[in-house]
Formats: sequence, C-alpha cells, structure tokens
Amino acid sequence: MYNTITAKFGGTSLADASQIRKAVEIVKSDPARRYLVASAPGKRFSDDIKITDLLYTCHKQASNREDFTATLEKISRRYGEIIEALGVDFDLASEIATIKKNLEAGTSADYPASRGEYINSKIIAKFLGWPFVDAAEIIFFNENGLLDEAKTFQTAGDRLKALDHAVVPGFYGSMPDGKIKTFSRGGSDITGSIVARSVMADLYENWTDVSGMLSADPRIVDDPKVINYITYTELRELSYMGASVLHEDAVFPVRKAGIPINIRNTNKPEDKGTLIAASMPKDIAKRAVTGIAGRKGFSSIRVEKSMMNGETGFGARLLGIFARSGIPFEHCPTGIDTISVVVNSTLFDEKRDEILREIKSELDPDFITIEKNLAAIAIVGEGMVRVKGMAAKIFAALAGAGVNIRMIDQGSDELNIIVGVDEADYEKALKALYGEIIS
Ligand code: ASP
Repeated sequence: MYNTITAKFGGTSLADASQIRKAVEIVKSDPARRYLVASAPGKRFSDDIKITDLLYTCHKQASNREDFTATLEKISRRYGEIIEALGVDFDLASEIATIKKNLEAGTSADYPASRGEYINSKIIAKFLGWPFVDAAEIIFFNENGLLDEAKTFQTAGDRLKALDHAVVPGFYGSMPDGKIKTFSRGGSDITGSIVARSVMADLYENWTDVSGMLSADPRIVDDPKVINYITYTELRELSYMGASVLHEDAVFPVRKAGIPINIRNTNKPEDKGTLIAASMPKDIAKRAVTGIAGRKGFSSIRVEKSMMNGETGFGARLLGIFARSGIPFEHCPTGIDTISVVVNSTLFDEKRDEILREIKSELDPDFITIEKNLAAIAIVGEGMVRVKGMAAKIFAALAGAGVNIRMIDQGSDELNIIVGVDEADYEKALKALYGEIIS
C-alpha cells in the first residue's frame, strides 16, 4: 500500500535485545519500511533507568569532578547485553572509551546525551545489515539552535534517498561548528518526522508501547477507547490540554508535507494504532467527538464594567496588561459587560498584585473577581460542527454528575468546547463527559 515508510522506534521499543528483535521483525515484515529511526534504550521495567538519563548523570558527575566510571560502566553493561544477545560484532569498548575521553575533556551535555541513540542505532544497523547514517551529518541547526530546515531536508533527502535502507539515530543533529546538539527530551520523534519529510515518505510510523492515542486520560477513565483517526488540528488541541503521544514539535515537518503519522505498538503490531492526518476518511468524519482532555491549574480574572460593551479597546487594553507581564492568556470568554481572562495560576500568582493594580488604574472596572483552582476540559472533534445538541449533552452530563460549570468557551472554529470546573470536580466531570459523549 505504501512505497516508503519511515519507522521510528521509541526507547521502550528498543530497551533490550528482545525488544530490538520485535522492532526488526516489524521493519522486515514490510519492504516499504526503508528507514528506521532509533531512540536510545529506554526503561525495561517501571523503575529502570533510561540510557539517556544515565548519560546525563555521567555528564553531571564529570562536570562536578566526581567519578563517573560506575555510571558509564552501567551503560556499557546494558549495551554489552544487547550486543551479546543479538550476536553482532561491535566494538563497544572503543565507543565507550571515546565518550569517557570527551567527558574528561569537559564536553557539553548534548554530546554524551546523544550517544544513547548513536550506539543503539549502530548496533541495530549491524543486526539488520543496513547502512548507519549519522544524524550529525544530515540534520543541521542554525546559529540560534533552530532546525535549518532547507539544508536538512536537502542533505538528508539526497543522502537517504540514494540508499535502499538506513538506520538513523534520533534526538540530535549538529550545529554550524559541527558540535552535537540534541532536541528537547523525547526528541527522537522529531528526527523521525524530519527523516520522513526529507525522503518524502508516504507514512511516518511512530512505534511505541501503547496502541495509539486514547480518547481520554486512562488514569481517570477506565479503559478509554483508542482514537483510530485524528486530524493534526485535533491532535494539537488535545495535546495542548495534556494528552500526549508524540513530541509536539514532531508534527510540523510531516504536517507541512501532508505525510500522515501512524502511532503503533511494538508489543502489539496487530493493532492498527492511531492515524494522524490532515483530514478524515468520510465514514470517520461523521464522528462528533474525537477525544476529551483537560488540565488543572487555571485561574480566571473576571472584569466587570457597566457599558463596557460600548468602550472601544477595553479587551485589548486588558489583554495588553497580561502581555506586558509576560503571561499568555489561555481562554478569554466575554459577556456584554464582563470579560474573563483565564491564565495559568502559577504564572498569575507571581504577578498578581502588579496585574490587579494595572487593571484598576487603566480600566477603572466596577468589579474584579478572581476564581482560582479551575480545571479546563476540552471536548474536541472536527465533526462537532455538524452535530446538533452537543452543548446540551455536555451540560446535561455535567449537571447529572452534580458538577458546577464555572466557565464555557467554544473555539470559533467549533472544533472544541471548553468547560471550566472546580479542580475538585475535575475527575468526576471527565468521567461523566466520557460516559455521555464517547463511550
Ligand atoms: N532518548 C531521548 C530521551 O530520553 C530522546 C528520545 O527517546 O526520544 O529523551
């Protein structure tokens, strides 16, 4: 069905030899899977330590002039086990010696951190019999540390398209002076996206340890449904509200090129996972709600002034006060003579006095009311625009659960409805909403 797939495997998917074997089997089962992007070995069990974390510890110890040999030895042992179990011929000792030498010479943290994916990818490339292509040679940052897209896509595209197959380490690239720079944590997802975009793959597969994105938080809702299809826009809304499957920056390279992302489970390759694309297939598009996600920790500052409605620039001046204090606003529901600004409570608390003073002096309001401990829940779905009575269902579900709604905001694209509830009601509200509109 697809001609070229870039398959990225996360840390748990490559945590030991048996996981690597699963990944390799997956890759080999479809000839379209030509490019494999690898993370460093992650956790094998819940209190295991990721190789990347061990590497950061080595760097910290080296910077504090502490002995880091025991930590480096742990790393070496884990790779040693993988190499032995896979039966590959690999000179681990010289790789470890190079890391040691660079740590002693005072390297920055990015270099040792990147070696987790570097070594893992080299081992996997050997096991597969595929060429290894170092990310430092194909992924470039500019002087400001931002991805140099044009140079990267061109170089990576030329280099990789000339090969039938390749293994590319995730998480890093190089600066103009050649030094290694990593993305933020979880950044191998970004590498996968860049590789998919550079070779103009038909599909970017992101193999992890869950069978896709869930339609609600499984810590609150029992066994929530997997989302089979989701648009990039819906994904953005749900991720912003706390649902996460993918590094946020991983969406941009493929999205611009119209390449869909498929989240898959290495431990259950038979599951279809979640397909993230620009638009939905017709039958799925009928679905009203795709998912529900929420977050605690908001405050609402409600400003009331009679005849505010006729006062030009009131809203702009109010938001300007928040902007000058460096506080982004999250939502801004308005009434005729009221306007509320919903912000992150921690950020607001730091600047509270200064903001209230300015609101009073600049806007001369009748009342200012601050509501703290708000949780926001977003009900997200591109199909909602066509469905009548969705708001009624939402409010009925919350009323039925005895939850008081303290804020309502509907995005102008009708892609989401956001309700604010007391933090204490958050779990109850989420369960009631899921029960009424998804399950
Ligand atoms: N190994 C890196 C981390 O632990 C990057 C990744 O796995 O995506 O953050």
